[in-house]
Amino acid sequence: MNVNIANSTQTPPSLWQKALDQSASGIIVYKAVRDQYGEIETYTVQLANHRAEQVLGIDRNEMLGRTAAELFPPTQATTLWDDIAEVIETGEAHHAELFYKISRTQQELWFDLSIEPLGDGQSAVVSFTDITALKKMTQTLMGEAILFKALSSNVPGMCVVVVSFFQKVLSATGDLPGLYTSRDADDLLGKRIVDVILPEYQDDWKRYISTALRGEEHNFSDHWGGWRCECYVGPVRNERGDVVMALCVYRNTSEQFRQQQTLQRMNNELQQSNRSLEQFAYVASHDLQEPLRKIKSFGDLLNKRYADDLDEEGTDIVHRMQSAADRMDTLIRSLLAYARLSSPGGLAQQQPDLVALEDLLICIQNDLEVIISERDALITIGPYLPTVPGDATQLRQLFQNLLTNAIKFTQPSQRPEVKVMGQLVEGKDVPEYPDVEHSQTYARISVQDNGIGIAPENFDKIFGLFSRLHGRQQFTGSGIGLATCKRVAENHGGFITVESALNHGTTFHVYLPMGIKK
Ligand code: ADP
Repeated sequence: MNVNIANSTQTPPSLWQKALDQSASGIIVYKAVRDQYGEIETYTVQLANHRAEQVLGIDRNEMLGRTAAELFPPTQATTLWDDIAEVIETGEAHHAELFYKISRTQQELWFDLSIEPLGDGQSAVVSFTDITALKKMTQTLMGEAILFKALSSNVPGMCVVVVSFFQKVLSATGDLPGLYTSRDADDLLGKRIVDVILPEYQDDWKRYISTALRGEEHNFSDHWGGWRCECYVGPVRNERGDVVMALCVYRNTSEQFRQQQTLQRMNNELQQSNRSLEQFAYVASHDLQEPLRKIKSFGDLLNKRYADDLDEEGTDIVHRMQSAADRMDTLIRSLLAYARLSSPGGLAQQQPDLVALEDLLICIQNDLEVIISERDALITIGPYLPTVPGDATQLRQLFQNLLTNAIKFTQPSQRPEVKVMGQLVEGKDVPEYPDVEHSQTYARISVQDNGIGIAPENFDKIFGLFSRLHGRQQFTGSGIGLATCKRVAENHGGFITVESALNHGTTFHVYLPMGIKK
């Protein structure tokens, strides 16, 4: 564009000056000063507007007629003067961004610079707009954009698509989900978002994007083809809070979902196999009772009717057969009782009773009257035995097993002394057990004896089904008692621990939650 100053003949010069002074850009007209060989040496200032005075910090009257060499002594490397020369010589305009340090004010500024030829082969109009603030903002934004791009393309399974206010794709990084027409992020750039989304999903996505551009946020899970992911679609606002873009973030959760499904399937299979096992234990022990009853009654018949026909050895054999049948009877009953217990967690779904443990333990003490008097055992019940939510029948089984063991596992020469004590403890104060709920309050019931004790290496073993540490001759039993105690405690959302040392007595601690399991 050539500026035709000749027009100024029709417009009063004062009006031109006024118009120039209104401009937000600094404007200076330079005229070339040539040396003896016709080469441009410097420029004289022909005209300067008000904004130029402000930016350069020089009064207009001081500038007019003076040369650039006088006004702007070379203190920095700049191509400005060469660019002006080229415009004058070639008649071609020049447009660029210029970084310049103003010598009077010492300010370092960025300018949007435009140099236009005046058409006389001698002069050029230089106009410059201060874009320092804009430049700084752009640099910050670019830094953020690089960081954002690096982040989103380096996080595995993450994809980010940025959509402009006019619903065009501004940026796309990462692995694109199966929702898009292409897997290559570059294919999306500059296109309308709806045009790059598969037709069957377009309606939904039109809605997500347009509402995001109105400020709404969407968080949801979805799946397209083999892709399953968590999505976020929401607005991007400028510092004034206006929505300027929409952001779509996709996190590929396909692998996580597959793993979850495998885990769920395995869990179901495990539960099914546990149920079958329980059913088997129940049916087997139930059905075994009948033939066992027959064995026992035939043994009784042999004893009663044929006692005279049996010699001493025969009588002994029948006697041993009867006692084996009795042991088997105990075993089958215990197994049946164990199998009848509902699976862990089952109780949490039912409405539990309130069980007063002190009353329950006094009842158990009465039931165990025979073995207590046989061993002359000293039983102390309480203090502080609370009332807990639970199943009275199961809890009776638990404490009966513990009391029986406490009396049983003492040296025959020793008088059993058993104490049952209660205490309320907070879950966070029970560090030794992994399944403890820290927010729960537990009733801790401790059953302490002065018996033979248990070596610490056997602590885990004793809670297993059919685990016994001693021979039948030494102590009778089925090896199911503690497994039952463990199952009952777990059914109540609690657990059982043991503290002991060989020959120094044993204490079993039963933890039962005071609140219903959450
Ligand atoms: P059992 O029918 O043999 O009593 P349990 O399951 O009740 O079966 O106990 C398993 C094993 O743990 C017992 O055989 C015994 O060796 C040991 N035990 C259980 N309670 C005590 C105790 N109070 N003192 C010492 N040992 C015990």
